[in-house]
Amino acid sequence: MPKVGLGVYKMNDDQEVVNAVKSALDLGYRHIDTASFYENEEGVGKAIEQGGVPREELFVTTKVWNSEQGYEETLNAFDRSLDKLGLDYLDLYLVHWPVPGKFPDTWKALEKLYQDGRVKAIGVCNFMEHHIDELMKTAEVKPMVNQVELHPRVYQQELLDYCKGSGIQMEAWAPLGRGQYFDAAVLEELAEKYGKTPAQVILRWHLEHEVIIIPKSSNGKRQKENADLFDFSLTEEEVNRINMLHTGERIGKHPDEFD
Ligand code: NAD
Repeated sequence: MPKVGLGVYKMNDDQEVVNAVKSALDLGYRHIDTASFYENEEGVGKAIEQGGVPREELFVTTKVWNSEQGYEETLNAFDRSLDKLGLDYLDLYLVHWPVPGKFPDTWKALEKLYQDGRVKAIGVCNFMEHHIDELMKTAEVKPMVNQVELHPRVYQQELLDYCKGSGIQMEAWAPLGRGQYFDAAVLEELAEKYGKTPAQVILRWHLEHEVIIIPKSSNGKRQKENADLFDFSLTEEEVNRINMLHTGERIGKHPDEFD
């Protein structure tokens, strides 16, 4: 799984998403993160088709939305997503939110899709420790990925440790915290020290924590910046200083309180 991918939430389904994905592919991105909820899978598919990158080099993720959950519903949702993307298999399929009473059956459908070879990996999003524990009561296959809101303000250390200990790869959504606190003193200081931007310092912080990142940008210059993270590293002390930015202020809903 490539460590850096392009997130495409809130990119519309026509030219914006097509241009953004094509630009990212040209820059060397090979990992794209969409969802049926984003209503832009067709645009992502169009960009993949036009981008000319061999299918086996790409890592494409989509997600089953809350209203599509349940066993049969999820199998149908998967077919719709694959059709819109114009693909004949998916690299990663995720349960978008832990819909109470539904997600164990949804997971059974993901296991079937995985066992049938229609998706190479399956996982969840927005699962806390107790959701994973509940899932594991009936699951045959353990989630391979947990994609959650994670950035310095929402540094979910216990969940990170739990997933690491369980062999579940953590992936950060809103890895940049939507750019809301690039002016934090420690980020500016480290950006200056390494000749990088605060955005790059945050993204490097994720990599030091072994977290996969999917920053969103439709701007080629920023896409390039967001993938240019492999010529510097942060010391343990610097990582710890960034950890201290944690306030717990979420951008999204708490996984026990979403609609
Ligand atoms: P993000 O943290 O990636 O922030 C994106 C915003 O930051 C952009 O709109 C832009 O304004 C700004 N930005 C990006 N690069 C920048 C740079 N180099 N310099 C300055 N500003 C920059 O937030 P996000 O889009 O919410 O999250 C990323 C992806 O995560 C989404 O696109 C989506 O694919 C996924 N996601 C998943 C869930 C889920 O429930 N599983 C929820 C939200 C998002």
